[in-house]
Amino acid sequence: MAKEDLECSFCGRKKPETNLLIAGLDAHICDRCIEQAHGIVVEEAKDDVDNNELSKELLLRKPKAIKAFVDEYVIGQEFTKKVMAVAVYNHYKRLLQPPGDDEIEIQKSNIIMVGETGTGKTLIAKTIARMLNVPLAIVDATVLTEAGYVGEDVETILTRLLQAADYNIEKAERGIVFIDEIDKIARKSDNPSITRDVSGEGVQQALLKLLEGTTVNVPPKGGRKHPDQKFIEVKTENILFIAGGAFDGIDRVIQKRLNMQAVGFSASLSEDVIEKDNLLKYIIPRDLKDFGLIPEIIGRLPVLTYMNPLDAKTLKAILTEPKNAIIKQYAKLFSMDDVAFSVTEGAMDYIVDKAIEYKLGARGLRSLCEAILTDAMFELPESEETEFTVTKDYAEKKLNKSIIKKLKAVS
Ligand code: ADP
Repeated sequence: MAKEDLECSFCGRKKPETNLLIAGLDAHICDRCIEQAHGIVVEEAKDDVDNNELSKELLLRKPKAIKAFVDEYVIGQEFTKKVMAVAVYNHYKRLLQPPGDDEIEIQKSNIIMVGETGTGKTLIAKTIARMLNVPLAIVDATVLTEAGYVGEDVETILTRLLQAADYNIEKAERGIVFIDEIDKIARKSDNPSITRDVSGEGVQQALLKLLEGTTVNVPPKGGRKHPDQKFIEVKTENILFIAGGAFDGIDRVIQKRLNMQAVGFSASLSEDVIEKDNLLKYIIPRDLKDFGLIPEIIGRLPVLTYMNPLDAKTLKAILTEPKNAIIKQYAKLFSMDDVAFSVTEGAMDYIVDKAIEYKLGARGLRSLCEAILTDAMFELPESEETEFTVTKDYAEKKLNKSIIKKLKAVS
């Protein structure tokens, strides 16, 4: 056969129409087909990586390793971190179980975390999502209302998850949803029939099916403003739901129950062993029911855990120890201007004391640091200084000048 008559066995182009024609045993392939085939190989490999990502991640991380990862970012909260590590591990083990494996069906381990605001609930959920490399949607239960009322339908929770997953449905279907302020949808009254409780029990009812596992028609853009948008079907069976709430006043519910227990037959917890300042420790599902969550919701959030209040020691550790601790972040910012930054122990204790005094919790540490450091961050980049140490006196002086001090005066 003349050279010009040779053709690509894939697309049929003659040799003169190609830039390159490579010969195999019985066939030829042209440069264009090679490029196309290469594209397919790359795409396929990407899909495989996506699908294997999760399993690999899980094979690598057992509960202890999950906790160790979270330890790098979240200080204290040992009990919750342990419980969450197990729950997350079991949840994803359930996910990896081959379909029709045997008759034992592993149930979902959705989680509910009870604890004051600013104690790390969202941070734990975020850290776990990052570790597993799954999308995370953080939603506020207070904006949810029963379908048909002003507010957001519960389906919009999944809109957020889809957005977090870049509209990759498969990814969204194994993501994590963190529902904050779940306590705010507690039943307002013990008598459910007094008035319609559209943002309380009604929402709890609507959440039920989502938590358990169902297929939901999700408006991709959320809301009711786009009436003609096409719905996307999302299965919630493998989505891990983590609910969090402060449950203000639940300590009284716990106290009451403990008192009754103490006089009753099961006097296993006598008065003197009960840690009065951290009653959340003794929380049981029944307390959530007494607070106003309906039993069905509690049943679908079977892993119940609590957060400890942050004491001075923990707050100080939060300043310096996590992988992206606030002080480490400032040190990095200053080092970019060749300034060696440090904070004395005394200054740190002072910041922590102020966070406690102003009732700002861990969230306040950052605003306090900003208030103290703004002047330095403004001046130092253009100065000759190569070192900057924050002492207690310096911190006190700057803070007295700042808006936070004024805020404190008003409150
Ligand atoms: P919550 O969800 O309980 O209201 P967050 O998780 O949003 O609280 O915490 C607010 C911020 O406070 C976090 O972004 C983090 O910087 C800090 N923080 C709170 N608790 C901890 C903790 N235990 N360890 C490290 N940082 C914490």
